Amino acid sequence: MKKFLIKIRTSLKFFILVSIATLMILGMVVLLYKPIYSVSLNGELIGYCENKSKLQNKISDYVENGDGENNNLAFVSIDAMPTYKLCLLKRGITTNDDEIFEKVTEKGTAYYKYFAVLDDDEEKVYVSKFDEAEKIVKKLKDKNSNNIDDITIKEKYETELEDFVSEEKAVSKLYEKKIVKVKKTQEAHPDLSAAISAPTYTTSNSSGTLKLSNTISNEKVNIGISLIKPVTGTITSRFASMSRVRTSVHKGLDIGAPQGTTIKAAAGGKVVYDGVNGGWGNLVVISHGNGVQTYYAHCSKIYVSLGQKVSQGEKIAAVGETGNATGPHLHLEVRINGVAYNPQNYVY
Ligand SMILES: [Zn+2]
Repeated sequence: MKKFLIKIRTSLKFFILVSIATLMILGMVVLLYKPIYSVSLNGELIGYCENKSKLQNKISDYVENGDGENNNLAFVSIDAMPTYKLCLLKRGITTNDDEIFEKVTEKGTAYYKYFAVLDDDEEKVYVSKFDEAEKIVKKLKDKNSNNIDDITIKEKYETELEDFVSEEKAVSKLYEKKIVKVKKTQEAHPDLSAAISAPTYTTSNSSGTLKLSNTISNEKVNIGISLIKPVTGTITSRFASMSRVRTSVHKGLDIGAPQGTTIKAAAGGKVVYDGVNGGWGNLVVISHGNGVQTYYAHCSKIYVSLGQKVSQGEKIAAVGETGNATGPHLHLEVRINGVAYNPQNYVY
């Protein structure tokens, strides 16, 4: 019995000794080793970090918000996120969070967010914030700018910033006056200076009624409709040009085409004139509403009649050289409330 007790005591001592040894070894491990993450980028080891979430948060924050130096920086696109692997490494190994951050972000592409103000789908000015763009549009509206219907705002995400302009500069750059005065050099011509002051007048006969003005304008007024080419051909005389055969400034656009070529309605509307009229020869006038009319002159034949409704592209006449013409061509006019506007601002 005594022998048996001694045996137990010896085993107990041994057990205690083993436990103390184990604890000491564990203690050594804890003292000498620590958990750490190896960090790889595209399969390549780029360093070690102790605090995985701290480093990853810093990278994520950079990707989402950039470095905060530029207000317009929207986000940064980087090729790949790093991967982390838990491993036990000896104490004393150097972690290099900053270097890892650098390596992950160095090839990133910064995207900037800003706004463009467009006139007729063309980017004209750039501003930093949406409310600035809105203010510009509002100012143009207040000033009754002629192109206000064509002004739009576009959100931009680009890798490079444009030069921003002040509200005032933007407004003055985008503002379009309702009436553009004819240039001084042209004013010297007696016909033209008379034309500028000429009021609107109306002529009426069995072929229809025409509201006319000798005033011309090169301004691109929004007519609310799009015009198609009534004929295909060569432009032989432009709007507002002078020539030997004319006593006044040219109020239309001449398109040379063979005799008999079909003339199509530039837009849908109602025929308000269908007959001979002085220098125009055989004339068709189509009213498109809102005071907008298109004139087709020197026709050899007219296929439509007064009051008839026509649709865009419909055959209305044939090319000729009636009236004051030196060869077969279509003389096309675009008139708004009787004032002749440059057809080339709308078609050709
Ligand atoms: Zn002409």
